Amino acid sequence: MANMRAMVLERPRTPLVMRERPMPEPGPGEVLISVQACGVCRTDLHVVDGELEHPRLPLVPGHEIVGRVLRLGAGVSGFAVGERIGVPWLGATCGKCPYCRSGRENLCDAPVFTGYTRDGGFATHTVANARYCFPLGDAGDDAEIAPWLCAGLIGWRSYRMAGEGKALGIYGFGAAAHILAQVATKQGRRVFAFTRRGDTAAQEFARSLGAAWAGASDEMPPEPLDAAIIFAPVGALVLAALKAVKKGGCVVCGGIHMSDIPSFPYALLWEERQVRSVANLTRDDAHAFLALAPDAGVTCEVTRYPLERANEALADLREGRLQGAAVLIP
Ligand SMILES: [Zn+2]
Ligand SMILES: [Zn+2]
Repeated sequence: MANMRAMVLERPRTPLVMRERPMPEPGPGEVLISVQACGVCRTDLHVVDGELEHPRLPLVPGHEIVGRVLRLGAGVSGFAVGERIGVPWLGATCGKCPYCRSGRENLCDAPVFTGYTRDGGFATHTVANARYCFPLGDAGDDAEIAPWLCAGLIGWRSYRMAGEGKALGIYGFGAAAHILAQVATKQGRRVFAFTRRGDTAAQEFARSLGAAWAGASDEMPPEPLDAAIIFAPVGALVLAALKAVKKGGCVVCGGIHMSDIPSFPYALLWEERQVRSVANLTRDDAHAFLALAPDAGVTCEVTRYPLERANEALADLREGRLQGAAVLIP
């Protein structure tokens, strides 16, 4: 086969560079995929910016992959050549550690992460462990589905951790929030969207996706919240969210990296308020979300970039210039 092309991180805090590489061979249990679209997640930004330590180097980032199966490695069953599949952040787990054995493979002691500890989807082709890929069917546009693979899945897991309360706050209205707002309102929740002060475009966007209210993150919502999810990587938002949730309310931190959380008076946590994080995803999360998203009519607002303009996409995400999600098209 011809060579593949990839946008490669050679050292953190340097721009990705376009490289040609020999076409990889799928090993046992793996599939070779022709990438159709790959979303750009904030986690990619944390890796490129050196905020997540010890990535594989050189690294092809990207873990919101929609592609077509080109070749099956030995022993792969359940996928056919030509089938459209999705590859998420969780690239593999050990299957043996206490977490894997207790239904918490998201916390596996020896995990593999797509686009972090193995090469991901900022490329024309990639190889993935078939047991951690998902069939996507043929309905829907590749680019508009790509953000489901992380923003959608992590948002879904965060949402489940937030409990059953009807009044749900979402801090940071990016890719994950814009998907989750649609799911939550479909399920009868009232969504309160918090953005940077003065970001009226994001607030308008949130209202257009069903949010009952949208305002600045230092404002109090019009009613106390049952729970809040924080997607923005800003530790001070934990305090804002704790102030906004009612007794027994939960604040869920949905990102992999956050600036330090300032110290705060115990009174903010008192009355059984909780703060927790959400890490990674399980395959069960993915099956649940991927079954529900099409029925809920979830749509993604995406900005498409040719693969070779990955650095521009990362910069737009870093600077908050995007509405919805950035997606690379090889
Ligand atoms: Zn494990
Ligand atoms: Zn992600």
